[in-house]
Order: sequence, then C-alpha cells, then structure tokens
Amino acid sequence: MSAHDINLSYVPTWCAGCGNYGIINALKKALTSLNLDLEQTVLATGIGCASKISQYVNTYRIETLHGRSLPVATGVKLANHNLTVIAEGGDGDGMGLGMGHFIHTARRNLDITYFIHNNQIYGLTKGQTSPTSDLGAVTKFTPAPLGNVEQPINIVKMALNAGATFVARGFVGNSAQLISLMAEAIKHPGFAVVDILQPCVTFNHVNTYPWYQQRVKVIDNMEGYDPTSLDKALSFAGLWGEQIPIGLYYRTIRPTFHESLPQLSEQSLMQQKIDNVDITGLMKE
Ligand code: SF4
Ligand code: MG
Repeated sequence: MSAHDINLSYVPTWCAGCGNYGIINALKKALTSLNLDLEQTVLATGIGCASKISQYVNTYRIETLHGRSLPVATGVKLANHNLTVIAEGGDGDGMGLGMGHFIHTARRNLDITYFIHNNQIYGLTKGQTSPTSDLGAVTKFTPAPLGNVEQPINIVKMALNAGATFVARGFVGNSAQLISLMAEAIKHPGFAVVDILQPCVTFNHVNTYPWYQQRVKVIDNMEGYDPTSLDKALSFAGLWGEQIPIGLYYRTIRPTFHESLPQLSEQSLMQQKIDNVDITGLMKE
C-alpha cells in the first residue's frame, strides 16, 4: 500500500448528503498530504454510521465494538508505537459507551488521534438523542413539548478537562480548515481530539448545514485567541449557541504514555524479543 491507493472500491452506504462524505474526503486528503506510509497507519473505529469509515479507507483498519475504538487503538499503539494510530467514530459511540475510555486515553496522553463525527444524534439506530444532543431536541424518543431534558456534553470542554494535548473543532462545511486540522492532529505527538460538526440529513433536522453555517466562527480571528492557554481554550469552549468557534483550541506538549514508560520508550513491544517469554504462568489461577 502507498499514498496513491488510499481509495477502496467499496461504495459507502451513507445517505445522500450525509456529512460523513465530507469527513472521509478530508481524512483522505489529510493522510495524503502527510505522505504517510499506509502500511504503517491503523484506523480503529467503533460502531455507527461514522464508524463505517474504516470500511472505505485503505489503511490497516479495524471496526471494533460499540464505544471501543480507543482501547483497541491503545492496544495497537502499545504493541507497536511506531505506527500512526487513528481512532474514529460518532458522538454516541464516543461520548456514550466510550466515555470512560475517552477520559483515560486523554489523561494518559496516548499518541493517538481521535476524530469524532458529531451529528448530535444516533443515526444508525434511527434517530435517538445522543449525549451531545441539544437541550430540548425533539426526536421520536424524546417527544415534544419537552424534548431532550439531559444536558449535552461539550466534546471540546470534555477533552480539555480530561487532559488531551491537542483539541480542535472542525466543520464539514469548511473543508480546507478541516483537512488542515486533521493533518495537524495526526502529526501531533500525544492524544489529539477533533470534534467534527457533521449534519445528519436524515434524522437531525435542526442542526443542519445552514444552522451550522450561521453559527460557526473561525477561532483564529476571535479576540483573545491563544491556543497555548488552557484557560482561554476553556472560555472559548463555553461558547455554544449564537457562536460556535471552529479551529484549534489548544495544543501543548507533554510526554506520551509510551515515552513515560522505560519498558516501552526505547523499543516497541514488537521490537522486543517477547516471543521467548513464557507467559503461561500468568494465565493460571
Ligand atoms: Fe449520515 Fe444520518 Fe444517514 Fe447516518 S443516518 S448515514 S449520519 S445522514
Ligand atoms: Mg451521532
């Protein structure tokens, strides 16, 4: 495999107009722009519309269980930390079942990139509210007049508070910025999170392309912007409504998980002669 054959012949089964098409195009362009060896690149996804992306990109790839892309990506990274490891999935997958994994991956600063397709709904299971659905969101499972009564999770805030070292928000309607954010996130040495705003044209008729277009604002142009300041990043993360900042919120460098462990820092597990180690004793009661 090489950069020129990143495409596969499978035809995506996403609905016409789905934001996932913009994300897959951006991902392919980001990977191609970095000229990565696709034989050394692994994409791990969970379950959901977003997670199907691993079926359509010609890296090494695995579609795992619901919410479990990050622990699988962690295992891959720890076995061979010379690989480029990307995890990907939706807001339901990552912020629902996957939430515990998200927090622990962030605080450990695994050198993994995590792209979250955030359409504020469960698409594959036909339109339930997700952990990122706005208050009052009306679905067939949260009917009017109340709609959703649960406070939404703000992925950027959550990533910043959990200790992610690269935190950004992109929007499929701004592909140039999204490609750049995805490429920067993949290059970042540490846990890099990109919250990607992605309309679900079939089940979310509120957070549509025009809804986002009217609100997104490139963060670089906003007064007080400073991606080296966690406090500033958190204050921008609090904006969700009339203005939704998109771009790089925060970036810092601290040792990654494998760099912090002497057992891993010099050689990956794959390079160590672990085949000769008798591990059967570990498996006895
Ligand atoms: Fe996309 Fe929504 Fe259709 Fe899923 S249900 S493929 S997220 S438009
Ligand atoms: Mg979703």
